[in-house]
Amino acid sequence: MASPGRGDLERFFALSLDLLCVVDAAGRFVHLNDAWATTLGRPVPTLVGRRVLDLVHPDDVDATHEVLAGLAAGQRFVGFENRYQDATGGWRDLVWSAWADPSTALCYGIARDVTEARRREGERREVHDAVLAVSSGGTYAATVSAISEQVRGVTRALGVVTSAAPPTVAGWAGTDVRPYRATAGAPDVAVPPVDLPLLGRDQRPLGRVAVWLPTGLDDAERARRVVLLHEVAGAAALILERSRAELSAELAAARTRELLDSVADAFYALDRHWRFTFVNPAAERLLRRPADELLGTSIWDEFPETVGSSFERAYREAIATGRPVAFIEYYAPLEGWFDVRARPSGTGLSVYFLDVTASHVAARALERRAEQQRAVAELGREAVTATDPRTLTAATVEQVHRVLRPPLAGVVRLVDGARVVLDAAAGPLAAGLPPALDLDGVRGTALFGALTSGVATAVARIPGPGDVQPGPVLPLGLRSDAAVPVIAGGVVHGAVFAAATDDDAFPTDDVVFLQQLAHVLGAAVERHDAEERLRELAEHDALTRLPNRVVLRREVDAAVAAALEDGSTTALLLLDLDGFKDVNDSLGHHAGDLLLEVLGGRLHEVVGDAGTVGRLGGDEFAVCLPGPLADDALTIVAESLLAAVEEPVRLDGLEVTLSASMGAAVGPAHGTDASTLLRHADVAMYRAKRTSGGHWVVYDPTVDAAPAERLTLITELRSGIRNGELEVHYQPVVDMASGDPVSLEALVRWRHPARGLVPPDQFVPLAEQTGLIGELTLCVVRHATALAERLRGLGVTLPIAVNVSVASLTDRESAETLVDELARAADVLSVEVTESALVERRARAVLQRLASAGVMCAVDDFGTGYSALTYLRSLPVSTLKIDRAFVAEVEDGDVDLAIIRSVVDLAGSLGLDVIAEGVESQPVAVRLAEVGVHHAQGFHYARPVDGEHLVDWLTSRAAG
Ligand code: C2E
Ligand code: CA
Ligand code: CA
Repeated sequence: MASPGRGDLERFFALSLDLLCVVDAAGRFVHLNDAWATTLGRPVPTLVGRRVLDLVHPDDVDATHEVLAGLAAGQRFVGFENRYQDATGGWRDLVWSAWADPSTALCYGIARDVTEARRREGERREVHDAVLAVSSGGTYAATVSAISEQVRGVTRALGVVTSAAPPTVAGWAGTDVRPYRATAGAPDVAVPPVDLPLLGRDQRPLGRVAVWLPTGLDDAERARRVVLLHEVAGAAALILERSRAELSAELAAARTRELLDSVADAFYALDRHWRFTFVNPAAERLLRRPADELLGTSIWDEFPETVGSSFERAYREAIATGRPVAFIEYYAPLEGWFDVRARPSGTGLSVYFLDVTASHVAARALERRAEQQRAVAELGREAVTATDPRTLTAATVEQVHRVLRPPLAGVVRLVDGARVVLDAAAGPLAAGLPPALDLDGVRGTALFGALTSGVATAVARIPGPGDVQPGPVLPLGLRSDAAVPVIAGGVVHGAVFAAATDDDAFPTDDVVFLQQLAHVLGAAVERHDAEERLRELAEHDALTRLPNRVVLRREVDAAVAAALEDGSTTALLLLDLDGFKDVNDSLGHHAGDLLLEVLGGRLHEVVGDAGTVGRLGGDEFAVCLPGPLADDALTIVAESLLAAVEEPVRLDGLEVTLSASMGAAVGPAHGTDASTLLRHADVAMYRAKRTSGGHWVVYDPTVDAAPAERLTLITELRSGIRNGELEVHYQPVVDMASGDPVSLEALVRWRHPARGLVPPDQFVPLAEQTGLIGELTLCVVRHATALAERLRGLGVTLPIAVNVSVASLTDRESAETLVDELARAADVLSVEVTESALVERRARAVLQRLASAGVMCAVDDFGTGYSALTYLRSLPVSTLKIDRAFVAEVEDGDVDLAIIRSVVDLAGSLGLDVIAEGVESQPVAVRLAEVGVHHAQGFHYARPVDGEHLVDWLTSRAAG
């Protein structure tokens, strides 16, 4: 190829923008072009003759030396790089191409200045690193603050402030969301910053960066840094946008969850260091703190009361377990209850909470009501077992005091409609209350209203001094009260009240509570009254009001025990009217009753304080004369009694004159207990009767031990039972409304070969006294079982009740068989026992066994016998049969209706059925139904008939 001329080379040398040079073998510049002057700021003449290595960066000297040595050895280099010092002392990056001419030992080199390119490359790497740093920020807030940090680093600014609003989430009250602000460095606020919007992909501003560059930068440098700023900000905006999207997704998810499972609308978020990263406006309101103040600060610093509280425990637990926690807690500084739900999130804890103070207060009110219900139930339970209403009164006051905690709680009784008597009181003011006061003294209170009008109310403001003249309760300072009447038997018996020293202390709920207690108390008082009446009834003969057999036996037992003690004597007289049956038959039993009443009164008058006169039943009376007795005392009393009976009695304008037969037994000679003495007096009386009557005889063991007639009867009865002479008749018990039979009663009769049909009264007592009763009862049970079978065959199922006397329950020989047979037929057979069976210990045990075998038990002749009320509660009794004596009087007046009503009440409270015996007419049935009797037995419905007639009766009813 043609070599260029020297002129051409000079021109090329001069115009080249690249640095050209020729270096000699010693490494010194021989020739350089002007580019060296413009690039390094060194004039060419100052360089010629200088060693190349003198200008090279110390770090590059070795490498450069090697290159020169390589060139000398004939190598050619391209792409070699080193740094040369310029006139200002700075370094320029040069990239070389070089080769050597072996003939001249000269080196030719071309270098290009790449300093700017290298710097831009470095800056780009810096921006890249900065962007990476920003994008690795964990939370939105961290992203914002990373932007500030990185912008400051990249632009070498004095200070940077970035502000960016968090996202708005649909459904979130986001209009008021404050921007996050992050500051890096110390901005020079005296100088206006370079302010740049952070724009998202769709050019929407997401926030701003304000950058304070150092003063004194030349325009180029300033521009250069602003360019960098744009680069960083552009990338940061994209990262911010992504971070916003993540946050909004998180918030939206949280919000959705929250909307789904609660109505909480306050929310804050904590980072892993317990610092607030988000506080919504509702949370600001509830916490009473602006978000500004809270963001970035630790919850434990801002709300020190939570440290060590259940809030802290719950939050830490949520973080530790990664599971959400929920609880309701009182927060004292805000005086409220909060429903708090804290959920761990990727970055910390999201806390949702709700002020539930109002609903919590409502819940407390509900709890209070539940407590009141429990108190009422407790009192109800006590009422079942308490026999004395006084203990229940105290318990009532106790419950009012415990539940309502008033300064004063009490139960009062109204006496004669004008006096208020305090039965029980509790509370700090109780001691100041007078034991009784006039009704007028409580005027203006709810108590007055309860006692006078039977209303249950609360008085919000009791008139004070100056309103009306102050009553005796006002000195206690009472300002409001609540009171409810205690109603028993339809009348105001008293009141339960609570009073307080402030106005309006008792809401309606409290009145309702008191009323429930008062109901329990009223029912208990009512039952107690009914029991008292029944007790009276149980110990006294309803007709003559004289003590009955129970009381008399008790007296005789006591008298003979005392006589044994002091070596004295006591006497028992048994009196039976002669010819009373004739009076009854000819004048009617009303006249008969009247006669018994008059004579009872006379006997009572004769005996006076000397002893006790009782009516044993029918026309039989007994007198107990406790010792020590004077020699002729028995005679005097006996004669006077006979004389009193023989005085004429006026009945319906007719003069009736009767006589009586009497037997006497003397204790302890004729017996040491009531049973024996009664039996012996009975035997003596029998003898008096047989020998013409109208006189009295004393028991004589030699004469009376085995009365011939009785002996005959006993023998006949024994063989009669074995020969099948016993018959059983059946009388239905009916439903009074429909007249339908609901059960049958088996009643025994004796078909005597000579005497004809003998009624039970004439042989059952004999059987009881002679041990034949067990056999008799078994016989009746078998008849009844056979009839039940027969009825079943006819498609009729009617339970049959068998009368079982105490003696057959306690008879060692037959009781076992009796229990067995009854148990086997428990589905159709039941038993009727008198009250005496409930009292007898051994009889009770047998009844219990029958009950466990499913045999139902009715109490017969209820009201006439023992005061067995205590046993009624504990024994498996299902029915009470009200004795004929009470039912018979229903037609006459109200007296015994009250008794029947109280039996019905009592039965109701014990869950027992009631059957009225001896209903003989429609008017009686109507009146019984009025007081709540539904089942009855009596001639009005059906007489006892034998099995054949019963089947006819049942089939004719079924047909008609
Ligand atoms: P109770 O158990 O009170 O039986 C009811 C009695 O009242 C029966 O008398 C019955 O005929 C009668 N009666 C039923 N309705 C009326 C009515 O409307 N007016 C009147 N005035 N009386 C009515 P009964 O059959 O003479 O029995 C008398 C008593 O003999 C029974 O009284 C019961 O204590 C006893 N008794 C009857 N059968 C047996 C038995 O198998 N074993 C035992 N231990 N005692 C029996
Ligand atoms: Ca009966
Ligand atoms: Ca009866």
